[in-house]
Amino acid sequence: MSPSARSFRMFQILYRIPRMQRHVVAFYRYSTPQKLKNVLLVEWERTRQRTILKSLPYMATVDLGNVCNYQCALCPTGQGTQGRPRGLMTLEGFRRMINDLIPYLYKIAFYNWGEPLLNPQLCSIISFTHTNRIGTAVSTNLSRLPKEGAEGLVGSGLDDLIVSLNGLSQETYQIYHRGGNFDRVVDHIKAVVEEKRHKGAHNPHIEVQLIAMRHNEKEIPLLKEFCTRIGADSYRVVPMLFNDIVPRSEDATLQELCTEWLPRNPRYVHPYYRPFLKGRTGTGAIGSRLPQGSGSCFWLWRSVVINWDGGVAPCCILFDQSDDFGNLQTEPFAAIWNNPYFVASRRHVGRKRRGALEPRTFCIRHCTGWPY
Ligand code: SF4
Ligand code: SF4
Repeated sequence: MSPSARSFRMFQILYRIPRMQRHVVAFYRYSTPQKLKNVLLVEWERTRQRTILKSLPYMATVDLGNVCNYQCALCPTGQGTQGRPRGLMTLEGFRRMINDLIPYLYKIAFYNWGEPLLNPQLCSIISFTHTNRIGTAVSTNLSRLPKEGAEGLVGSGLDDLIVSLNGLSQETYQIYHRGGNFDRVVDHIKAVVEEKRHKGAHNPHIEVQLIAMRHNEKEIPLLKEFCTRIGADSYRVVPMLFNDIVPRSEDATLQELCTEWLPRNPRYVHPYYRPFLKGRTGTGAIGSRLPQGSGSCFWLWRSVVINWDGGVAPCCILFDQSDDFGNLQTEPFAAIWNNPYFVASRRHVGRKRRGALEPRTFCIRHCTGWPY
């Protein structure tokens, strides 16, 4: 491994530590002998770069719908360019699609390309998952509460509530969260905090998450005090990441995006984008700049993404229906997990890659591994 690849790997490990804490809790809370055995098999098969797997994923992302009431500037859902019909997952559909994975999953993240609180069955879906001893997380703009209110959210058994808050005043908040009302979100956070207090509940753990951008970097030093004041359990500043793996010709160039959105303070900028701050443009997207065959993508072994319509995607970067690897409405999960799309993609990111790969999945066309 070259020195630059080594330092990138080190950054990846350090960057993941705070994020991993939440998952560690789920591992502790929801483990069973069957799940543990599967995790060990997953990690063994990943280390060996196996392409046809006996193990099943132990984490999942389930998108409850690709709809949103905001029009955030860089989001395909907010901008109406998501490449998949709009819709919401139903409780019945979820139960059917997740059934085969229930004995193996430690955690489900109920968010990807939409606002999960717009799904009227959110609390029932979380309750069902919680009853089946699987950890749950929701990331939301919290501009609305579910129809059952804060009580429903706390009573559902939700483990993690991540509130996306990219500004600490209406003035900065609305620059990225177009259509958003800052005070309303703060009121909703306080309502959940109050409901937890009322019930004496520890969950959900409330994390306020701020993506560092040019217009909000001056507010980052205020975040800790703000979160303490409103009663959030933790906060996290995350570096801005453009979904520049997904090529869309109508988009601004990466240099233009960096100039408009990246904070000036390099401390808040992902190392891959720092050259852009100095006007030195890099080449290609983040995901295509990893060393070929770096084996850095864990998604294809550990995790899976299920869209509201049953479409199975290999990771959370993809949103276009044409990039799906299969569909759970028509096939069982076991048939999809080792189908030619997954097998070819695992060969592509694996260290033992040889020869031409078919079918030409998104991973093969555009990505060399998980870059974040
Ligand atoms: S709140 Fe989230 S899903 Fe909605 S437009 Fe913004 S980034 Fe997209
Ligand atoms: S190789 Fe890239 S596109 Fe494919 S699953 Fe991994 S991170 Fe996602």
